[in-house]
Amino acid sequence: ASKTAGRNRLSYFTRSLHDSAQRRLKLINDLRVAVQHQQFELYFQPVINLATRQITKAEALIRWNHPERGMVSPAEFIPLAEETGLIVEIGDWVFREAAAKAKQWCDLFNTGFQISVNISPVQFQSDALDITEWLAYLKDLGVEEQHLSIEITEGLLLNASTDVTDKLLRFRDAGIQVAIDDFGVGYSALSYLKRFDIDYLKIDQSFIRNLETDQNDLALSEAIVIMAHKLGLKVIAEGVETEEQLRLLLEIGCDNGQGYLFSRPLPAAKFEDFLRKHD
Ligand code: C2E
Ligand code: MG
Ligand code: MG
Ligand code: MG
Repeated sequence: ASKTAGRNRLSYFTRSLHDSAQRRLKLINDLRVAVQHQQFELYFQPVINLATRQITKAEALIRWNHPERGMVSPAEFIPLAEETGLIVEIGDWVFREAAAKAKQWCDLFNTGFQISVNISPVQFQSDALDITEWLAYLKDLGVEEQHLSIEITEGLLLNASTDVTDKLLRFRDAGIQVAIDDFGVGYSALSYLKRFDIDYLKIDQSFIRNLETDQNDLALSEAIVIMAHKLGLKVIAEGVETEEQLRLLLEIGCDNGQGYLFSRPLPAAKFEDFLRKHD
């Protein structure tokens, strides 16, 4: 009897393994279709200057409107897009779409506005990432480069190849600012900060979440702000959800904040309403 049970367990195990492999394959296939049929949409989340309460920029965050599953989170499909290489094409679409919105909203509202775009390390390291084409696209649209910025993660800079270094320089030389996303949870190897020309550090939301109760998170956040300012960088706190977090961030001199306290990421039309209200 125990032999049978063992065999059943095994077949159950292999079957569920098979199922999850099948699901994965289907999702990868769906992702290819999504790229062809433009099932993506950009949401925008405002970044607020904490002292003046002005909207200084917005982060573009991709959404996938899956025909059967509804909205699929980028946390789920970006890793798949990276594994399959589809991230290059998806990221290309994100950049162009963000550039078009930057143009539209700079024309409509304040002229200092900037949209930041997340660039995955796989995309950044790919030979298919064509910065020349991106810059030409901005020229065609009539968008000045300072209205766009990119968000990269620490890991990319840790053992940066000359190719990565060159690309980063090309963005900076063109006037596109660079932010380090999820700062503080990566590698705590700070030497890259002196080797690369960075504009913003985004304090990871895991530090902000317990700011009110965890003295260590507050101390680390303050240390990041002090260090950043000494290096001439600006700081953005991610995941600001409460007034108390906002108060503490002001107290430690943090420049900008982003989070549900100000607004969730919004579809373009809703974000435009938000800009209009705050204009
Ligand atoms: P991220 O770049 O660190 O983006 C911030 C994430 O925090 C977003 O999740 C945003 O919706 C969420 N968030 C903002 N405010 C709050 C808050 O107050 N509380 C909480 N709990 N969360 C908040 P989202 O949109 O699900 O994106 C997840 C990640 O997916 C992003 O993290 C980024 O790494 C990646 N991603 C999103 N869009 C793109 C894209 O266009 N290209 C690439 N390569 N990656 C993207
Ligand atoms: Mg980001
Ligand atoms: Mg982040
Ligand atoms: Mg992230």
